[in-house]
Amino acid sequence: MSSKGIITGVSGPVIQACVYGKVRMYEVPLVGNSRLLGEVIRIQGDVVDIQVYENTDGLRAGEPVVFTGELLSVKLGPGLLGTVLDGIGRPLEEIAGQNIYIPRGFQSESIPNDREWDFVPLVKPGENVHGGTVIGEVMEGSYLKHMVMIPPEKGSLVVDHVSGEGAYRAEDIVAILSDGTEIRLSQKWEVRKSRPYYKRLHFDTPLMTGQRILDTLFPLALGGAAVLPGGFGTGKTVTQQSLAKYCNADIIVYIGCGERGNEMTEVLEEFSQLMDPSHDAPLLERMVLIANTSNMPVAAREASIYLGMTIAEYYRDMGYDVAMMADSTSRWAEALREIAGRLEEMPGEEGYPAYLGSRLAQYYERAGRVVPLCGENKEGSVTIINAVSPPGGDFSEPVTQSSLRLAGAFWGLDKQLAQQRHFPAINWNSSYTLYSFQLQEYFVKQLGEEWESLKRFLTVTLDKEKRLKDLVQIVGRDGLSESDKWVLEFADLAKIFFLQQNAFSEEDAWCDLEKQKYMITVLKELNKMILEKIEKGVLFEQIHNFPFRKKLLELRKYSAEEMVVHAEKMYEEIERTVVGQVVE
Ligand code: ADP
Repeated sequence: MSSKGIITGVSGPVIQACVYGKVRMYEVPLVGNSRLLGEVIRIQGDVVDIQVYENTDGLRAGEPVVFTGELLSVKLGPGLLGTVLDGIGRPLEEIAGQNIYIPRGFQSESIPNDREWDFVPLVKPGENVHGGTVIGEVMEGSYLKHMVMIPPEKGSLVVDHVSGEGAYRAEDIVAILSDGTEIRLSQKWEVRKSRPYYKRLHFDTPLMTGQRILDTLFPLALGGAAVLPGGFGTGKTVTQQSLAKYCNADIIVYIGCGERGNEMTEVLEEFSQLMDPSHDAPLLERMVLIANTSNMPVAAREASIYLGMTIAEYYRDMGYDVAMMADSTSRWAEALREIAGRLEEMPGEEGYPAYLGSRLAQYYERAGRVVPLCGENKEGSVTIINAVSPPGGDFSEPVTQSSLRLAGAFWGLDKQLAQQRHFPAINWNSSYTLYSFQLQEYFVKQLGEEWESLKRFLTVTLDKEKRLKDLVQIVGRDGLSESDKWVLEFADLAKIFFLQQNAFSEEDAWCDLEKQKYMITVLKELNKMILEKIEKGVLFEQIHNFPFRKKLLELRKYSAEEMVVHAEKMYEEIERTVVGQVVE
């Protein structure tokens, strides 16, 4: 039963209404004469506060409010991939067809109903099914199978009727169950409610990103969560885009949350032109983009991450690995702060509401690796990679700190590194991952026992450099021993060779695990060679003449196998030329 009410006050995106009848929290009302979409966020007797997802300019006291009785939902089905949605799930393409600005009160479903999909049934009448069972599939794009599933909340039932192979639209009925439930190609789900699964699984597989510093030093588990905090211009957007392009997730959900409009346009343009490196198809075929720029209504920004998460969980339920990226959580938190301010709630740290941490937790806990309802032998995951933009790059502020407590990997972007043009500007001293232990077995299986010692070699090199740099402050570079001078030089080489990775270079934007391993092997070998020479009395100055930097960097363009050959040549040359001669 839907109730009615009238507007009694307007304060930016929040309106107050007097309601006649019953309403429930998070119910969706249509506000004012333009029937703007909103959500009930506070109920005090017969007075309710509503956050409105559209511009509230011109709304006046006395205008009607109609409560729909429904919670904010999204229609899930084939056609989601490749679309760009706004914060409440309306396709931007359809909105753009209306006007250059989003017309107020415009309502549209997230997926088109005029498009037909070739449905292939996978069950027969008389078969037992339950919530989550896959009853058929359609091809969504050129290679991705979209499973048509029984809505998750259904119990054990029998198939009464199932349609034959053929073309159907999202709203068409393709099966009928014994309790009369009609199964369509699409289904609705309330965005603030997590979709159920059979059971959670431990983390044991990494999300391969192709970014050396991440895969080697700070790996993220499939189903885990990472935060990527950094001040302005440190590379949050570029890093997230690289991950969207190259990580090994099946599906990417990318949320532009409160970013500037022109930045989001660039992202959209870039993604629409990109080819998927792992399939010979456009990247957009496995992406859903949600755009809620800083000039769009602030309340819709708050909803956008729940929308993205629901879509991610939907594909997870089909048995896919989904990576979800939001750029940035800070803008989302600012939306939360603005709404809380309008409601005159008691402000917490830096004006954010006291429930900032618990809201973030509700969102982060929806990530995970699970056995979905569709089958006990299937696996699906949602991995979160969230950018945070702390004002002034100060990581002690509440949004970074709250995110940090919830995510297992912390990839801190460093202003100084970005200024030195060391990209990705991820600080290897402050970043960490809590997934190392769980992923150890996977890496050892893939790369052999020596992987752990190679990794340790790299971290020890970086630690030594840090220590020596402190020492240089006191004694000066000349006060160092010959081998310590080399350690400093070598750490610098390792950073340039291994940790730096240009997102815009065709050869180096992505690096497979085998190559990462071999690159560290080359570094270790080189270090061993030179330290041996130094032990035999060669001076650092004499070694220094060899063009290490150039020779080493040239290796980066080769695959792991090619690198073996070219690295050998480099060792020989070192032996033969500079160092060799000196020793003779
Ligand atoms: P933010 O989103 O943190 O404000 P951006 O992602 O827009 O920062 O990055 C700012 C600039 O830094 C980019 O325009 C690019 O020139 C440079 N940059 C960042 N990361 C990389 C990278 N991995 N490789 C090369 N350049 C990068």
